[in-house]
Amino acid sequence: MASSHTVLMRLVASAYSIAQKAGTIVRRVIAEGDLGIVEKTCATDLQTKADRLVQMSICSSLARKFPKLTIIGEEDLPPEDVDQELIEDGQWEEILKQPCPSQYSAIKEEDLVVWVDPLDGTKEYTEGLLDNVTVLIGIAYEGKAIAGVINQPYYNYQAGPAAVLGRTIWGVLGLGAFGFQLKEVPAGKHIITTTRSHNSQLVTDCVAAMNPDDVLRVGGAGNKIIQLIEGKASAYVFASPGCKKWDTCAPEVILHAVGGKLTDIHGNALQYNKEVKHMNSAGVLATLRNYDYYASRVPESVKNVLVP
Ligand code: AMP
Ligand code: MG
Ligand code: MG
Repeated sequence: MASSHTVLMRLVASAYSIAQKAGTIVRRVIAEGDLGIVEKTCATDLQTKADRLVQMSICSSLARKFPKLTIIGEEDLPPEDVDQELIEDGQWEEILKQPCPSQYSAIKEEDLVVWVDPLDGTKEYTEGLLDNVTVLIGIAYEGKAIAGVINQPYYNYQAGPAAVLGRTIWGVLGLGAFGFQLKEVPAGKHIITTTRSHNSQLVTDCVAAMNPDDVLRVGGAGNKIIQLIEGKASAYVFASPGCKKWDTCAPEVILHAVGGKLTDIHGNALQYNKEVKHMNSAGVLATLRNYDYYASRVPESVKNVLVP
């Protein structure tokens, strides 16, 4: 029997359960003690066993249920049979109780592109900075990021044994974002969050031009967006290539769903159609509030180097 729910809401509900399963895999790989680290392009561009297993889990689970989707994952993996143990078939019922925004109700499976970062913040994962790590599943339609799920496998890991470990945040444009408490940095404070593993002179110059009260250097694009929506940072500034579409798609949706803004360093919206190049060559600028303050302070010298 055909489901009464729209394709988009069924996909988000499945992505939620799949991201939760991903979180368990991320924790299990650490618990087993063998990270299986591989260098990709350089020593700060790593892949672990968790990146590989989670990508297999997410992409195979999604493809089984939604065979006409376009799914683009970060990791370049050889085709192989996926262990049944990695497949997640569930869907989060709470999401199916929500109404689909009317502008998305007629979307067909083949119209959607899913951007998967199986483990964002891999460098930090290998260094034990576990709450920097997120699993990102972003959903795009007509080139625009419209829905997303973020699992943070080690949320609460320093809060003691009684605390519930891990959480999942999700959102759809026009509906909202859920799974966290929205909080803002006190008015007038400029706290910048930026990279800790992929720094450069350009990144530092751009951050300095914002005249910040404080600079937080942490791993992960997902983690930095969580800092924005939870009132820990007022702007995510990354004046460098390096960050890819799978890093920004899901986080952008969560931020936009609560009234924030994520663009490249020039102020251009990011595109997520399946043909787009993966690299966000002109960097990232994101805020929950006061976007114009930060955008107006990006130096021309920085803009001239970062070509979209
Ligand atoms: P970071 O803020 O350094 O954690 O970067 C956010 C995301 O972009 C992570 O997934 C990084 O792996 C990726 N990224 C940023 N810069 C680079 C780079 N130079 N090389 C490879 N990946 C990068
Ligand atoms: Mg990433
Ligand atoms: Mg990754």
